Amino acid sequence: MKDHLKTSEWGLGLKGHVIIAGPCSAETPEQVEKVCLEMKEQNIIPSMFRAGIWKPRTRPGSFEGIGEDGLKWMEIVRHHLNIPITTEVGNTAHVELALKHKVDVLWIGARTTVNPFAVQEIAEALKGTDIPVMVKNPMNPDLQLWIGALERLHAVGINKLAAIHRGFSDAYDKRFRNKPNWSMPIHLKREWKGMEVINDPSHIVGKRDGILEISQRAINFGLDGLMIETHHDPDNAWSDAKQQVTPAQLKDILSKIDFKTPLDSEKPSEKLHDLRSAIDHMDDQLIDLLAERFAVIDQIGAHKREHKLTVFQSDRWKEVMDSRTDKGVKKGLSEKFMKELLFSIHEESVKRQEKQLRAGDPVNKNA
Ligand code: PEP
Ligand code: MN
Repeated sequence: MKDHLKTSEWGLGLKGHVIIAGPCSAETPEQVEKVCLEMKEQNIIPSMFRAGIWKPRTRPGSFEGIGEDGLKWMEIVRHHLNIPITTEVGNTAHVELALKHKVDVLWIGARTTVNPFAVQEIAEALKGTDIPVMVKNPMNPDLQLWIGALERLHAVGINKLAAIHRGFSDAYDKRFRNKPNWSMPIHLKREWKGMEVINDPSHIVGKRDGILEISQRAINFGLDGLMIETHHDPDNAWSDAKQQVTPAQLKDILSKIDFKTPLDSEKPSEKLHDLRSAIDHMDDQLIDLLAERFAVIDQIGAHKREHKLTVFQSDRWKEVMDSRTDKGVKKGLSEKFMKELLFSIHEESVKRQEKQLRAGDPVNKNA
């Protein structure tokens, strides 16, 4: 394992759950001020204020961000809220301007993370600074690409890194604007110890309804914070109008979320310890049983080899799949899980048996 994946000196160094709020795009100085004042009125002081200055739009012709002027308005945020400011950068010019205007934290957007050339260019422009950078997941669910972007930043000396889960483009599932994939941030946290992953429910859901539900799920899974697009007049926002919430709605969402204590920071209770011991014991049994099952599979393989039978038999496979799935579902296991589990066991069985047949093949005498 690479050294940087083992340390736990990561993250933005902010205590508790990180709450990032602010508009999709900075539009006018008045808009920036109104959002700040309404947040203050609602007594919501987020950990960070977000505002897009350069907007990566799918098609040209819509509002592509206000540009450098917007960075000057960040003084308004400092004046009213006195919190760190974060914006998206997509190329060297953006980085230079963001640094010039003392933006506190940068983020790399989903459309940029997919492109190693672009990420490398941004990383080079950041060399010698120690500005914190958050990396959104790439548009496609490719964990290595996501980690690769974080590594490119790490390689130039950026140590304050965090990731943002904003969901993945999916051509078929239209329930979400970008479908969440909860295993991906969990894998990321597993592979890169200490990595903070913030969830962006706004770009996952794509509309106001459902932001609370997705935020709660992220917290339940142990993600480290939320980035929620917030605008004083969402319906008239210049970008992402459907998904932005007002500061009052943000307050309501945050008050309804049941923020859980991250398990890492707690010593497990006696009860949790006992339950985990029970799981350890069951896992042992599962492994013993699987080993026994594969020993029987080997006997079947030997039999098939002796009688010159093929490995795969579709009727038998269908019968096994259906009967076991049925039984599992009756016991409260999900159909998807049963199918994935059986598929994985079956695939391994078929491979093992084929290996035995291959060893007996005349063309493979030395195999
Ligand atoms: C944004 O945060 O406004 C944005 C453009 O996000 P993403 O890169 O996740 O699409
Ligand atoms: Mn947006």
